[in-house]
Amino acid sequence: MRPMRAVPLALAFALAGASATTVQADAFKPSKADQVKLGKRAAEDLRKQDKTKILPSTDERVKVLRKVASCLLSVIDDGKDPWEYSFDVIDSKEVNAFALPGGPTFFFTGLLDKLSTEDQLAGVLAHELTHVRREHWAYAYADNQKRALGINLLLIFTKASSTVGNIASIGNDLLFNLPFSRKHEKEADEQGLDMMVKAGYNPTGMKQVFEMLSKVSGGSKPPEWLSDHPDDKNRIKNMQERIDNMHKTFPPQKPLPWAK
Ligand SMILES: [Zn+2]
Repeated sequence: MRPMRAVPLALAFALAGASATTVQADAFKPSKADQVKLGKRAAEDLRKQDKTKILPSTDERVKVLRKVASCLLSVIDDGKDPWEYSFDVIDSKEVNAFALPGGPTFFFTGLLDKLSTEDQLAGVLAHELTHVRREHWAYAYADNQKRALGINLLLIFTKASSTVGNIASIGNDLLFNLPFSRKHEKEADEQGLDMMVKAGYNPTGMKQVFEMLSKVSGGSKPPEWLSDHPDDKNRIKNMQERIDNMHKTFPPQKPLPWAK
């Protein structure tokens, strides 16, 4: 996704609460229930936009995406998580995929067309699911608020009380554009790899996606998913190390039906 834009000042007040003097990062972290609400709202808004062409459930790509998703969820969902997942494909050349807070997940045909195996698809999906499960957006949001507070402390003291705790004031812009930290990307890679192995996929698939995207980004415009997931060279190396350390033999990768 795109680089973060300036945070509207009003957002700094959104979850400030009355205790601005003793605020800690977690005081700004939207609850799990709020994450679900926010994600659903943003997903609904996205589906309503004229320019968003969502593929029908009968489309082969949607069916495969949902099949792989339910396979991954079967190894992590113990029935206690509040997340409300949904999996959709947007007809667009954009090379991208993203998960909104709380679970709604979108893949673009531009990315699906570049994947050749179910294991690669599982790699992207497992990475995104980890962002949801580990509440990475909510932590990024909390950090963002804390920074805004540091800058606007004086304003907070004078105005916070009038603009308390309203999640409705969190704009979609911040839902779609807030970047994840490097620490969280690493966690999504690592736990995503573990998740896909547990579900019976070959973890090399995830590594291949990053390798493929690094090559594609050699052109003038980097794919969005990669620019959202900046690759320091260590990232692919770290994945390989984690795979090697599993000391396992993995099943052969399954070709996607539309792979050339
Ligand atoms: Zn990521």
